[in-house]
Amino acid sequence: MHKALREFALLDIGRIKFNAPLRDHSRWRIGGSADLLVEPGSILQVQTLRRALRDFGIPHVIIGDGSNLLFDDKGVHGVVIKIGRALSRFSVSDGFIDAEAGVFVPRLIRISGRYGLSGLEHTIGIPGTLGGLILMNGGSMQKGIGSNVEQVKAVNQKGELVEYNQDACRFAYRESALQKADVIIVAARLRCTLRDPHTVKREMLQILRSRRAKFPLKQPNCGSVFISDPAMYDTIGPPGKVIEECCLKGFRIGDAMIPNIHANFIVNLGSATSADVLQIIRTVRTKVNFHTGYWLRCEVRYVTPDCQVVPAHTI
Ligand SMILES: Cc1cc2nc3c(=O)[nH]c(=O)nc-3n(C[C@H](O)[C@H](O)[C@H](O)COP(=O)(O)OP(=O)(O)OC[C@H]3O[C@@H](n4cnc5c(N)ncnc54)[C@H](O)[C@@H]3O)c2cc1C
Repeated sequence: MHKALREFALLDIGRIKFNAPLRDHSRWRIGGSADLLVEPGSILQVQTLRRALRDFGIPHVIIGDGSNLLFDDKGVHGVVIKIGRALSRFSVSDGFIDAEAGVFVPRLIRISGRYGLSGLEHTIGIPGTLGGLILMNGGSMQKGIGSNVEQVKAVNQKGELVEYNQDACRFAYRESALQKADVIIVAARLRCTLRDPHTVKREMLQILRSRRAKFPLKQPNCGSVFISDPAMYDTIGPPGKVIEECCLKGFRIGDAMIPNIHANFIVNLGSATSADVLQIIRTVRTKVNFHTGYWLRCEVRYVTPDCQVVPAHTI
């Protein structure tokens, strides 16, 4: 594969780096190296990239900011395509935001506040790119970004630019049809409501304060590890409460630990490995199932060395 990678890297596909340390691209600061990391800077480069990957038969994986990803300590044998800062232009008009997928969500929120564009307040404080947020339908417990999506532009395996309207995305809690479509999201149009900028910013600050009070900001982490199961939520409560009641706050394997501030997080105390995190996930699931009968599912995605991206509990 190395010869194919070297030939592939000569194409006009964006910024490239061989043996790229993935810990620099994950909020958990965990992971080995990728054979090759590519950061396309235009939709055309994404299309070229996709066609070439197919022609060369090179395995690959798509990432945004890595705020929901656990890379393996063995790294990734193939190409990691990072849709990030190099593809992050955007414009605002008539209550709509047209943005490329690599735009950093906190930046988008700052701009929407400045223009009095309301509707995205629930995403304030969420790190990550717009592409990652749309794929995960991220947001608050009550609302996902999907409710603001007017249109998504993506590049399919053949390198074709395809468009999805909101219905075609089939957004549900932390889910979207895009997760199974094997596409690279490259841009989106978001619908907002025009309101007084001061009011929008004030509401954003309130949400941000309450998020900051709940989240362990100092140590590397990937946010909530487990998805809230609606049936469990109604009868017993959210994952954080249930895990806490299983006396797992402070539970530690290697340098991975469930912090005291929020039991649905796992933090890296310094040199945690992917194996440490996966072992904590297994222990939590087993204990929660023993005490409640529910099997928790992961929101966090695990990237296998052979380029599969799967919910971390399925390993
Ligand atoms: C401190 C903290 C707090 C958080 N709070 C929240 C919260 O309140 N609500 C919430 O929903 N999430 C939260 N998260 C999780 C995370 O920020 C979101 O899931 C985020 O939207 C993921 O975006 P990303 O760019 O980091 O994607 P990544 O983590 O890089 O990738 C996530 C998934 O999206 C895919 N992907 C990424 N970009 C693209 C693209 N352009 N095209 C196709 N597929 C793509 C990847 O293959 C992967 O499957 C939090 C994380 C942290 C660290």
